[in-house]
Amino acid sequence: MKKKLTFSVNKNSILLVAFPLMLLTLSGCYTKTSTPKTLGGDTCAIGSSRSAADYDIASIKDKKNIVPVLILGSGPAGQSAAVYAGPEFHTVMLRGNKPFGLLSDTGLVENWPGQRSILGTELMEKLQDHAGNRHTYFLDDAVASVDLSVWPFVVTTQGDVALHALAIIACTGAQPKELGIPGEKEYRELGGVSACAVCDAWRFKGKNVVIIGGGDSAVEEATQLATHVKSVTILVRKDRMRAATCSQDRLKGYPNVSVRYLAEPVSIIGNDKEVTGVEITNGQTREKEIFPTDGVFLAIGHTPNTHIFKGLLNLDDHGCIALKDRSQQTSVAGVFAAGDVADPVYRQAITSAGTGCAAALDAVNFLRNNGFDSLMVEQTKAHFFIPEQDNQGAPDLEPVHVQEEAQNSLKPPAVPLLADIETAQELETLIATADRPVVVDFYTQECTACKRMMPALTQVAQAMADSMLFVKVDLDRVEVAKQYEIVKIPCLLVFNQGVLVARHAEPANKAELTEFLSEVAQGAQEGA
Ligand code: NDP
Repeated sequence: MKKKLTFSVNKNSILLVAFPLMLLTLSGCYTKTSTPKTLGGDTCAIGSSRSAADYDIASIKDKKNIVPVLILGSGPAGQSAAVYAGPEFHTVMLRGNKPFGLLSDTGLVENWPGQRSILGTELMEKLQDHAGNRHTYFLDDAVASVDLSVWPFVVTTQGDVALHALAIIACTGAQPKELGIPGEKEYRELGGVSACAVCDAWRFKGKNVVIIGGGDSAVEEATQLATHVKSVTILVRKDRMRAATCSQDRLKGYPNVSVRYLAEPVSIIGNDKEVTGVEITNGQTREKEIFPTDGVFLAIGHTPNTHIFKGLLNLDDHGCIALKDRSQQTSVAGVFAAGDVADPVYRQAITSAGTGCAAALDAVNFLRNNGFDSLMVEQTKAHFFIPEQDNQGAPDLEPVHVQEEAQNSLKPPAVPLLADIETAQELETLIATADRPVVVDFYTQECTACKRMMPALTQVAQAMADSMLFVKVDLDRVEVAKQYEIVKIPCLLVFNQGVLVARHAEPANKAELTEFLSEVAQGAQEGA
């Protein structure tokens, strides 16, 4: 989704509006012909058929921004595809809006072979390190539109980069499902409903929460929440859980976790600020009751992220990208898919990795079979797209100290750039007394999206250090979330002359941060 952030700045409020500008193009498809070179795909998606001549390798010589293997997505499938494709052909990975995919929200992974127990983020960092070491280039950007009616395929990113891909491996994953019941949307916006325990547990310290769902994710979320909250009740709509027995057994180690069966959620209720309960119906007696709770976590499965391919690739009955036989080939030759986006059944990190490997092997074969040999590489490599290598790591959120900044600036900032504020009082004093707008980044150590945004925020802060102060606040250490109405992190608040003037409550890349803060700075200057 392409997002345009606009906002009006005044001393008291800020309006952030995201306009989804998804531009989908019409597709073509490939029909098997009698030409000796097989292109791998032979079923049509939508639109007119495409012949092997449409995959004319000579046609790529006058193209710019060529990517022989373009991987969409940076979860286990994408990283494993990169490990295999990178050494063979120039490979670029678009890391997407949720780098590392769902594993970035997962706590401990205990079923990755060869690794008894590892944090989801740590596993992903290892995989990415391996992929980078195998010559993959990473781009911190996401797909805005895909044109499969031409070859090379044209993939346009949200950052407005147009890439000419010779082969695409779609590893775009899946996203959490919604219940679709009254109160869900409303309290999600207020922070009382969440689909990510790791991200949001900090807001429910010492409180009673429920998890809706009975699968492995519900168990995973329960174990993550149990250490933060007073009690967790898993509401299961049937008389049994779907989670694996070994998974359910893990719950025995958490005395503050219980399971309530035959509890079908009907609505989420509360006051104008907070959730106070879930209305449930008994699956046998059909009696209704209000189950009191302070927060609701959803773990009811996932929907594959196929929106950019709708109308372009065949999908199966589950909405996953349909694959041909025992391969990762989609309905368009040269486009392959791996991981949760193409898997309605197994959906494990390790199966995603396996299919990522298979997709890379398929893509490499596709290129070789179509004459993309070492001679063609030589003739075209000057036009390969090579992204700037930044924003890739997930560093610890350490402040950059003032001494380092002072070397580059004649006017050192009054406080160290992105220094951690230690108390609510310290923050209040800074906001009230600063001679410039103060940008406050609210985060927690467990928030992967916050870590992911930090390199971009650091760069923007360095560039704007003369006109604004940048600090950060760990919400696990400084309990000010309620005071500043923080319901989602990462969240940036900007204060000018002691007044809140702008709020940005979602992850952002460097361009979005620059645009947001430049407009805030301009507004502050005009108001001065
Ligand atoms: P699942 O589809 O396995 O489970 C979804 C659960 O949500 C089911 O219990 C389902 O109930 C319930 N549910 C669905 N819709 C509703 C609704 N409207 N109201 C109430 N309950 C609802 O999804 P998961 O995300 O748990 O797991 C997906 C896959 O990922 C699985 O293959 C799982 O094994 C895997 N996984 C593995 C992990 C691990 O090994 N560490 C961790 C997490 C996931 P019902 O059973 O009645 O349909």
